[in-house]
Amino acid sequence: MNNYCHCCLLMLWARAMRAIITDPRIIKDVMDQRDSNPHQISGKDFDRVFFSKCAWAVYTAGIKFKMVENKWKAIEEAFLHWDYQQVCRNEDNVRTAALSVVKNIRKANATIKIAQWMCETGWVTIRKRLLDGLTQDGLGNFVPGHELIAYLDERPMIGETNAIFLAKMIGYDLAKPDILLKRLATKFGYPPNKNGVQQLATDISQLVLQRISVVETVLWNACNSKKDDLGFKCPTCGKEY
Ligand SMILES: [Zn+2]
Repeated sequence: MNNYCHCCLLMLWARAMRAIITDPRIIKDVMDQRDSNPHQISGKDFDRVFFSKCAWAVYTAGIKFKMVENKWKAIEEAFLHWDYQQVCRNEDNVRTAALSVVKNIRKANATIKIAQWMCETGWVTIRKRLLDGLTQDGLGNFVPGHELIAYLDERPMIGETNAIFLAKMIGYDLAKPDILLKRLATKFGYPPNKNGVQQLATDISQLVLQRISVVETVLWNACNSKKDDLGFKCPTCGKEY
């Protein structure tokens, strides 16, 4: 635990919870995150789930996730309900279908490339890499092996931030250092980078006894909600944010 003001971090948590508590979609998201853990990778058909999560990371990169969410059903259909082997066999048709939903050739090609990588590498090998070096800390957080982020980062159009996001979606306790969370971390005196965001989520996680990825999900959604700018004057120490 760092020596950041505990009272202010608790106050931030309370404000963030208040900002999201009336939105059933976000609450479901938080609950799902709580149940999520990397061992789910071994479950039946998780290879397709993994492909869909990669596609989500590619399609949400650089645009508002709501825009992708609205088109997600159609994107799913274009990519043959995440049957990556079929995607590899019908590359041209899939590309045409994907472009008719979202006119972005780079995103369509990147997603097809990920399907090809999955076909060539094989799910058993990929699954092993995704779980390689997994540890769990005393608070129940799932910590990835050292090389996981670099491994995911090698995929087309993924990049480090999205690799962290992908690892979180698989069930690891990582905080995605996107612009909103970097801004929030800076506001509370943390470094404006992935380490700062991870530390902010970790510190709150220890105060409120929730997993890091759950804390991150609450904070990110709170930052996204228009109702609240999460600014406050701490009633305990008087600091203003
Ligand atoms: Zn305070």
